[in-house]
Amino acid sequence: MPFLQYGGSLFWLVLLFLVFLGCPEKKETVQPAKPTEITHVVKSGENLEAILDNMFSHQSTISIISLMKNAGFPFRKCLPGDSIKISKENDNLLELTYHQNYTTEYYIHSNDKHYFVSMKFPYIDTVIYLLKGEVNSTLYESILEIGETPLLVYRYTDIFAWEVDFVTDTRNGDSFYVYLEKTFSDSVFVDYLNLVAACYKGKIGEYTGIYYCDPDGYEDYYNLKGQSLRKSLLKSPLRYSYISSYFSKRRFHPILKIWRPHHGLDYVAPKGTPVSSIGDGVVTFKGWKGGYGNLVEIRHKNNFKSRYGHLSRFAKGLYKGKKVKMGQLIGYVGSTGLSTGPHLHFELHKKSVAINPLKVKIPRAPSVKKKYMADFEQHRDSLMNIIEHLSQDRGEEISKD
Ligand SMILES: [Zn+2]
Repeated sequence: MPFLQYGGSLFWLVLLFLVFLGCPEKKETVQPAKPTEITHVVKSGENLEAILDNMFSHQSTISIISLMKNAGFPFRKCLPGDSIKISKENDNLLELTYHQNYTTEYYIHSNDKHYFVSMKFPYIDTVIYLLKGEVNSTLYESILEIGETPLLVYRYTDIFAWEVDFVTDTRNGDSFYVYLEKTFSDSVFVDYLNLVAACYKGKIGEYTGIYYCDPDGYEDYYNLKGQSLRKSLLKSPLRYSYISSYFSKRRFHPILKIWRPHHGLDYVAPKGTPVSSIGDGVVTFKGWKGGYGNLVEIRHKNNFKSRYGHLSRFAKGLYKGKKVKMGQLIGYVGSTGLSTGPHLHFELHKKSVAINPLKVKIPRAPSVKKKYMADFEQHRDSLMNIIEHLSQDRGEEISKD
């Protein structure tokens, strides 16, 4: 689903200086040490006191907290994802920057006698871009090569997850574009907002996804004909976003040949590659099953059933009868059972008959409503015009008002 967020551009900047004379006591340091810099991202369930306790003595933590309290720091608004940057010398705070979301920044610093607390609202700017690229090694690397982050890879591949198996279907020379909004806080990139349109053009065909929100507020990605890109089952049990995030830590491994030797698909992949359910469903089997080795079987709507064999291990907390979501991690590639090397054995059954997952037609989510089709077409045409125009002047960007 598109990630919609408020992206205003007329932001203001306020600097508020408060001087505190009754500041925390600075301790005598026996040996002057180099300032230590620590950055911490707030996790769910954490509070500021606990975070500071990990960096300072409890006494200092209390002092810092009371300083911030006096300055009106909104503790209740501390949320996961906020970040805190500390510069300290032994147990003395030198500087503290607290980023609340990316819209507010609190800053504390000290000179010899005083602490200064200030608050700043960075200038938030949203810019719309056309990003284009060509696949040279993997799609993941190609998107990083044009200066973007893994987050964009996940957002982009998720748009097409029902139609394209980016793990096996990408080839060198394929091309892609994405027309999207990026947000900057004081000129520093912070997030991708809406991916307005995206396209993948390759050996497998040409796929376009257009974000459209109808007058009733129903939003989705549609192809050029106005059909939803979402289906009841994903194209692949190996989710590109999982795989690229899993492997990018150890350098991304493009992997994967796909074989079709029997009534299923064999994805050759390194041991440990995450495997996910291709659709919402219920686990009907989890355990050892003869030649399959470690097997997970999931029952889906419309009499579909999917099987994932030779797994090295199962996802934590998976059991027979458990409901799983589309794309949810269920296990890891292995070589258990009758297998000569690590691969995922994947089967899709319809009414208990094995079918070819590559050829089966999977029901789509609803198309654009008839009464809004003209509106959609107008939106699509103007979008395609802009994109074509921008494709000609390379590197263009438009400021969004
Ligand atoms: Zn197999």
